[in-house]
Amino acid sequence: MKKYFKNMKIPSRIKSAESLFEAEQLMPVLFIGHGTPMNAIEDNNFTRSLIKLGSELPRPKAILCISAHWATRGTFVNVSAKPKMIYDMYGFPNELYEVIYPANGSPKAAREVQESITSISVVSDTKWGFDHGNWSVMTHLFPKADIPLFQMSIDYYKPMAYHYELARQLKSLRTKGILIIGSGNISHNIQSVDQSNINAKALDWALEFDTAIKKLLDNQNHKGLINYEHIGASAQLAVPEPSHYFPLIYAVALQNKYEKITYFYSKIYYGTLAMRSFKIG
Ligand code: ZN
Repeated sequence: MKKYFKNMKIPSRIKSAESLFEAEQLMPVLFIGHGTPMNAIEDNNFTRSLIKLGSELPRPKAILCISAHWATRGTFVNVSAKPKMIYDMYGFPNELYEVIYPANGSPKAAREVQESITSISVVSDTKWGFDHGNWSVMTHLFPKADIPLFQMSIDYYKPMAYHYELARQLKSLRTKGILIIGSGNISHNIQSVDQSNINAKALDWALEFDTAIKKLLDNQNHKGLINYEHIGASAQLAVPEPSHYFPLIYAVALQNKYEKITYFYSKIYYGTLAMRSFKIG
């Protein structure tokens, strides 16, 4: 009897019910366009969207943040029980350098990252901590700071396809209650931001690139997202260097075919900084 069930073809109707069951067990994945570090202490529509999302998400056992601001050669994971604050930004008001996000780390979940990734050795780190790509959004998303939080670095010298394959190995963490967040920006060209006006009219190339990426996301065209340079001239302006685009690849690599994307924020700030942020699952 057992053998009979083992060899039985499962009708697609039941298969989709299985997917549904699996989806309920999976932690969502987030991509957050973090923008300026000032968001940590400001109140705007973007920070409000984070507060709202945080109140709706299932409570994670731990949070893994992959931030644009921890770029390394090789891949590291922070294994500290109490990661330190990293103030990796210059020329901002003093108030910003006093922000403390007092969450604990999660050496246990960090070990699970190291065990899940088999293609390379993910190196233990205790020198990094929470950088502003992480704490500027976490202060709104989980303001109580009562969920263990840790970061994994991004090997800056590797191509997008490499990161996509690496990130896919983290899929099992979603079944273990770990919330994975990629924190970057779809369009990030510091030279072009109009710092005087958060609501400055979006430049054509920023709009064009953001719209093209949204279309690829909507169509689950992961290949197109990996090969974003093919979008053309707007891609060169929006991604003059890849640090802020990498985290998006980490997020989409974790998407299952049946999982939808929900955009919880999509405005372009300061004329060119795409704040588009989404939830998978
Ligand atoms: Zn940044």
